[in-house]
Amino acid sequence: MNKKNITRLTTLNAVIGYPLTQTQSPTLHNAIYDALNINSLLMAFPHPDINALIAAIKTFNVALTAVTMPHKETVLPHLHHLSETVTALKAANTIIQRDGELWGYNTDVDGIEHAFRHITLTQKNTLIIGAGGAARAMAYVLKKHQAHIYWLNRTPDKTHELIEIFGGQTINHDTLNDLTVDIIINTTPVGMYPDIHHSPLPHKFLRHHQTVFDMIYNPLETQLLADAKKVGAKTISGIEMFIAQGIQQISLWQGENLHTPALEHLAQNVLAIKSTDETKI
Ligand code: NAP
Repeated sequence: MNKKNITRLTTLNAVIGYPLTQTQSPTLHNAIYDALNINSLLMAFPHPDINALIAAIKTFNVALTAVTMPHKETVLPHLHHLSETVTALKAANTIIQRDGELWGYNTDVDGIEHAFRHITLTQKNTLIIGAGGAARAMAYVLKKHQAHIYWLNRTPDKTHELIEIFGGQTINHDTLNDLTVDIIINTTPVGMYPDIHHSPLPHKFLRHHQTVFDMIYNPLETQLLADAKKVGAKTISGIEMFIAQGIQQISLWQGENLHTPALEHLAQNVLAIKSTDETKI
């Protein structure tokens, strides 16, 4: 961000979460604001207390707030308006402040839809690894497209509630051997920096006809994606979702659709350079 452009009129935006050591939202947002000549600055507000964060958002009239762990669910009682997706997922990753009122959105779903824009999901057999908030957003998209879901989670009991909402069945590594799976999605942090040589799924389960999506975006190519590439599977990095969910946050704030291949390309370059610079995002 060119600091010379910051004036009294600059709008303050924020990403809230804790501890926020891995967030790339400031890099993504500020690069896009620069590219689109939006007079705003997004700063990281790391804090464990959602009440303190909401007070700060209101006090300093923060226009757009990106919300990440552990506040995606606890923020809900503080919002005046919930989008349909927030109501369905019971989680928000975006707050827009309009005339003192807080509007909650979930653009993770838009990010997932974008990442799968070239892949047919309807009637496919899919495997979701993990059963947390990201898995929930993924399942929402899969249910919408009438895909079948196999659930694989470290704590199998956590999949029961998700099955009631989104359907599917819980499996384990033994039963996975006998199944035909078209699409594999990792929603766990296994393989994320600094544990970059770990994978949530042994490579023996990967097949060349599959599409493998890893929600992790640091590193850009995880061990799971590298293994999938080796067997000839199609791979999708979490960076596609991350960039699209961020552009959607800014689109909601600005009130216009800002998704263009050029902007996605710019964001990809900025995040890739950052990742090379720091060896970690
Ligand atoms: P979460 O709610 O904490 O859920 C994490 C899930 O991963 C849980 O099901 C947990 O299993 C499982 N897990 C955690 N550590 C594990 C381990 N060592 N071995 C096996 N399973 C493990 O987190 P979340 O919000 O869903 O986020 C999950 C991942 O998605 C993170 O890496 C996050 O960065 C990524 N994400 C990416 C984007 C994007 O834009 N690309 C957006 C959102 C999230 P248990 O149930 O057994 O605890």
